Amino acid sequence: MEIHHSKHHQGYVNNLNAALEGLDDLAELSVEDLLRQIGSVPADKRQAVINNGGGHANHSLFWEILAPSGTGGEPSDKLLNDIVSTFGSADAARELFSTAAGTRFGSGWAWLVVDGSGGLQIYSTANQNSPLMEGDTPIIGLDVWEHAYYLKYQNLRPSYVSDFIDGFINWKTVNELYASAKS
Ligand code: MN
Repeated sequence: MEIHHSKHHQGYVNNLNAALEGLDDLAELSVEDLLRQIGSVPADKRQAVINNGGGHANHSLFWEILAPSGTGGEPSDKLLNDIVSTFGSADAARELFSTAAGTRFGSGWAWLVVDGSGGLQIYSTANQNSPLMEGDTPIIGLDVWEHAYYLKYQNLRPSYVSDFIDGFINWKTVNELYASAKS
């Protein structure tokens, strides 16, 4: 995780800053707003901003929603009720998330997002593509790039995914993100 944070994440920040050189209006935006307005980024810079702005925003969320094992609390009543009414049960949501994370071919992320109409959705994206570009607000994101799990889990992505879901989600933060995405 230290290497992941100090080397991989820092690389995205440096490359994003390089891509935005000379684009002062865009450089002033938060990275989240930059991704929400990705269409306003000049075409020759857009892919660099998607890759590196996405990399920055996705990892920033990821660090925030991780907790040391067993300290992350529980989903709020509101979030749990909405998960059950959207996906059928907490187990069904868990299964959907695991499948999204497990079947993303190559590199990407699995997400629980609040969509533009306030509904919950679970899906994955390729590479560093951010749900913000689709008008969705991510409240849980799991990095399924090999660099995220290979040192500890080698090729066992499913073990990494189930350990994350069962032990390392900071629900206190996720509950706050959910409340603010709904307001
Ligand atoms: Mn990563």
